Amino acid sequence: MPIYIYFKSHTYISQHINMKGRLLLVEDEENLRSTIALNLELEGYEVLCAENGKEALQLFKSNRFDLVVLDIMLPEINGLDVCREIRKENRNVFILFLSARSMGSERIEGLKAGADDYLSKPFNLEELLLRIEILLKRKNSGASLKSINSAVINARIIHFDTYQFTSADGKIVSLSKKETLLLKLLIEKKNQVVSREEILEQVWGYENFPTGRTIDNFILAFRKYFEVDPSQPKLFISVRGVGYKYTEAESSNN
Ligand code: CA
Repeated sequence: MPIYIYFKSHTYISQHINMKGRLLLVEDEENLRSTIALNLELEGYEVLCAENGKEALQLFKSNRFDLVVLDIMLPEINGLDVCREIRKENRNVFILFLSARSMGSERIEGLKAGADDYLSKPFNLEELLLRIEILLKRKNSGASLKSINSAVINARIIHFDTYQFTSADGKIVSLSKKETLLLKLLIEKKNQVVSREEILEQVWGYENFPTGRTIDNFILAFRKYFEVDPSQPKLFISVRGVGYKYTEAESSNN
């Protein structure tokens, strides 16, 4: 049933310079998988494919994705269980279900498992591309951080552009790129708890996950650099099981 074949009128296959996002495509029907993957790549997405639920979870655990296109009827582990498993750890990634079954109850089950959208097979490929685009737009509009170039903490001046800060006695100290990105993220979201998930997404992006202690070590370094008494932190706070928070110096004295 070659009803899925659809090619947009692209003539510039190798010209997309900016990746629009990284997608995980989970589909066991080979023809359908390769057709969807090809069309997503033509749209400028980076696509990794899995042909069963087990492979999908393995790929998901070792990579970062913006969106998962997930078939429901899959070998090894079905799509609903894959979705539930993903949602245990990650609430941000978009999940779009594909299913041959178009019953309302299936749709509801998919959404209950934590999916953001649902498309019944057979579907129009253009509709799939459009739905993906709309979901990813939602993400980008939500993540628009206001950008700052510098900040002052306890008389230390941070220069985000040059990855440095000036200590209280005027010395220039270098920060690593990731330290700078994390510091900036926490300061831009001051007084809010920033989840580990969001930190991974904003600071590590598509790179491999850091080990569990890495973010803690960054926070310890920030305390050493910026706290009056690093053993009694008032500015850089870990909220157990939730994330990390930068509290403004003024408000911590209230
Ligand atoms: Ca299937």
